[in-house]
Amino acid sequence: MLRRSGVSLAHKIHPISTTSSRSLLPLICTRNISTQKRPNSTLSATDSFTNDAIYKPTPPPPASLSTLPTPYLLRTILICTVSTSPFLSNLLTKVLLSYTTFLTTNRISRYILQHTFYNHFCAGNTKPEIQSTLQRLKSWGFRGIILAYAKEVEVEGESSASHTSTHEADEADIASWKEGTLQTIRYAEPKSFVAIKYSGAGATAVLSMEHHKPASPSFLTALDEICEAAQADGKQVKLLFDAEQTRYQDAMDGYTLDLMRKYNPRNAIPTVYNTYQMYRKISPSNLKSHLELAKKEGFGFGAKVVRGAYLQSDPRDTFWSTREETDESYNSGIERLLTFENRSSGNAEGINVGVVVATHNQTSVTKAMNVLQRQKAENGMEGKSVTFAQLAGMADEVSMSVINGEANGWEKVNVVKYIPWGTMEECVKYLLRRADENKDSLKRTGETRRAAWQELWRRATFRA
Ligand SMILES: Cc1cc2nc3c(=O)[nH]c(=O)nc-3n(C[C@H](O)[C@H](O)[C@H](O)COP(=O)(O)OP(=O)(O)OC[C@H]3O[C@@H](n4cnc5c(N)ncnc54)[C@H](O)[C@@H]3O)c2cc1C
Repeated sequence: MLRRSGVSLAHKIHPISTTSSRSLLPLICTRNISTQKRPNSTLSATDSFTNDAIYKPTPPPPASLSTLPTPYLLRTILICTVSTSPFLSNLLTKVLLSYTTFLTTNRISRYILQHTFYNHFCAGNTKPEIQSTLQRLKSWGFRGIILAYAKEVEVEGESSASHTSTHEADEADIASWKEGTLQTIRYAEPKSFVAIKYSGAGATAVLSMEHHKPASPSFLTALDEICEAAQADGKQVKLLFDAEQTRYQDAMDGYTLDLMRKYNPRNAIPTVYNTYQMYRKISPSNLKSHLELAKKEGFGFGAKVVRGAYLQSDPRDTFWSTREETDESYNSGIERLLTFENRSSGNAEGINVGVVVATHNQTSVTKAMNVLQRQKAENGMEGKSVTFAQLAGMADEVSMSVINGEANGWEKVNVVKYIPWGTMEECVKYLLRRADENKDSLKRTGETRRAAWQELWRRATFRA
């Protein structure tokens, strides 16, 4: 049983605060071309790094947005333009935070939101709407989507008032989270991806993780039901457990490893994926030891690799001190996964490895593609499944560089968009929360807008 009595609970479920100067727009067009110099520091993110000089990497193909419709490009430019103006983006964020319900129910504002933010960043609220978004993305060359349910609870930091709840309320939180996730699986296309946040199970579940207390039986049962639904015949959906705040990430890693043991056979594409935030100093060694554990115990290993979104809010000393160290940590983590020993006929002990390269960073994408090609040429890719992912409505030029990469001699790989579904109000709140976590992204909105302008100019001047 979950022990709650006598514990000073430091978190509570809360509506989004309106006090910060957060901006919705950073989320919208985050994109960065990094020079990614290796750090001079003696700190080593991992013990391996691709030497591009030796492996003669191909450069990224020129970004081509030729498959994207003109109205979409115009909307991208509009949204990115607003996002680069601190005044406009802060104003819009404050208005959205203060009047979410009114703006999402009033006919005129709802219409405007529908044709701007909602259609740009969200999949819809019903199965037909989600299907239609999926078909649109497929027509642009995407393999599919990572579907996430926008409705979630947010858990405050240490300074929040004491959390109090009844056993019934905790059970209701878990039941609602489970039902939302099961609905997402039902809406997802067979063999596609569904993203889950553990924190959606409620504040008490989060507190148990943070304080390393036993999880409630209903939470564990819900996880089993979710994994079984994902593996059901004809579905075979892959579950990506998102990474969240550092203070409960260790417990989440533990749950996800347990689920991998149970639901990832060694010789099939993994069902359960953990997320590794490579800005954390601990992540390279975690990734290495979790891979070795999977090999030793004989279960398939799934990893979504991100840099990390909580730089502004989590304790700074848990992250690499510099941007360059995070870049090296990210690129090396991807290389470790892509080059992990292959499962071939001569390697009966081998395990399957699923990798989701989740980034908007073109340099990391290019490095990953180069490692992939080298690995394929030298050792093959048996037992490996690789997918590239970007957030919906963002970094389209990065997505397209991979989708159109064959023209440049790149390996054909799957590219997907991570996209929330839900009502307009749920999605607006979701986007505001993600924006709050990604505040530093405001600086990096130029490339997407520039790529969209270039494509529009190409069309206007009838260039091939
Ligand atoms: C498909 C997808 C799924 C995602 N899922 C998650 C998730 O589950 N959990 C999560 O936390 N995030 C998630 N993210 C967000 C991700 O962690 C990044 O915040 C975002 O993608 C920006 O990083 P980037 O790799 O795209 O590239 P860039 O924009 O090149 O990198 C920016 C990132 O670099 C890091 N960084 C910047 N400056 C410094 C510095 N001085 N020191 C150290 N590090 C620094 C930060 O992580 C920052 O977010 C996801 C992103 C995508 C595309």
